[in-house]
Amino acid sequence: MMNSNLHPETLCIQAGYTPGNGDPRQIPIYQSTTFKYDTSEDMGRLFDLEADGYFYSRCGNPTCDAVARKIAALEGGTAAILTGSGQAATFFAVFNIASNGDHVVASSAIYGGSYNLFAVTMKRMGIECTFVSPDCTEEELNAAFRPNTKLVFGETIANPALSVLDIEMFAKAAHAHGVPLIVDNTFATPINCRPIEWGADIVTHSTTKYMDGHGVALGGVIVDSGKFDWTAYPEKYSGLCTPDESYHGVTYTERFGLAGAYITKCTAQLMRDFGSVQSPQSAFYLNLGLESLPLRMKQHCSNAQAIAEYLKGNEKVAWVKYCGLKGDKYYALAQKYLPNGSCGVISFGLKGGRSAAEVFMKHLKLGAIETHVADSRTCCLHPASTTHRQMSDAELDAAGVGADLIRLSCGLENAEDLIADLAQAIESV
Ligand SMILES: *Cc1c(COP(=O)(O)O)cnc(C)c1O
Repeated sequence: MMNSNLHPETLCIQAGYTPGNGDPRQIPIYQSTTFKYDTSEDMGRLFDLEADGYFYSRCGNPTCDAVARKIAALEGGTAAILTGSGQAATFFAVFNIASNGDHVVASSAIYGGSYNLFAVTMKRMGIECTFVSPDCTEEELNAAFRPNTKLVFGETIANPALSVLDIEMFAKAAHAHGVPLIVDNTFATPINCRPIEWGADIVTHSTTKYMDGHGVALGGVIVDSGKFDWTAYPEKYSGLCTPDESYHGVTYTERFGLAGAYITKCTAQLMRDFGSVQSPQSAFYLNLGLESLPLRMKQHCSNAQAIAEYLKGNEKVAWVKYCGLKGDKYYALAQKYLPNGSCGVISFGLKGGRSAAEVFMKHLKLGAIETHVADSRTCCLHPASTTHRQMSDAELDAAGVGADLIRLSCGLENAEDLIADLAQAIESV
């Protein structure tokens, strides 16, 4: 792993792949499902996890691993695995340590897909979730734990609620109850926040968003800090601390240590059985995005700051949420956790509520209506009439997504042009 004292700008370019003499300068795309060996014994050692190497791309691919190493270096983790999407990253980060009969605690202000995953699909699999407000007190948070709680989950900056997680407080409560904190760091990216430095144990991303940055490839990543001591709770985390009968009786913590146990189990067991891997081609695109991530995040954040300030001054705008705005509910937390900028996503409501939002959306020209966020092109969404349409008004409020909320993802265009487009769309209401 690359020297962790290097700055993120350097890691974004250099980490994860070091070509040897005469090797390709750029990460090669290993577009191959399988790998060839001279003897069965050679391949057998790989199956026993006794040698490093590749045999089948569902269980590991050199292109994907190089990009995963880069992201692990950026987050300050010890190991990482790429997944086929952000949803897969969330699911496997949880399912790697929780199963039927277990309980998890999650912030209620999370991505709609993650909310559904916790509230409905994982419940069907026997994993129960208690949702807590991201603004809860320490006492309220501590009260959510049960004897069978396995982890706590939250988002650094929630999509689309834009609340900022008090990572230290959530980590402290998790650790007091002997469980890890998993943080979805998609919106902040490791350029603006590194949750592991604040106590998070595992970090996930939808790499589909800023990391890719160009809207070309779905993907996700799970990064392990290597800091959570599973062996202190061998019964609670028996999947990591006792022999895996489905994998030749390997005990992950013994064989791979705290630095490697969690990600190795996720690879050897979950990806073997579920196969939700990222393709090498997608990993290659992701790597191109990562190279310019620090430059792009600066521009996303400065555009969002200018636009948030413009909206705040517009008399037809009822409210604006952006944690970079002085007076925003999360300004103080953002100053602590995101001192160099937060993200390019803003939410706001127009006077006139739900119906005004619908008219506004029709008149945008540069900002396109997309379910996407966080890429180079500005896009806009009215969740109540699209992504969150199956939720009741009460559920929308609990998730921090009111019926009037418009989510604006500021791209890399010129800020004055974007403001002019917003101005004419607001005028049309
Ligand atoms: C988009 C998103 C996800 C889901 O990622 P996909 O790549 O779409 O599966 C998870 N978390 C957050 C914060 C997201 O924005």
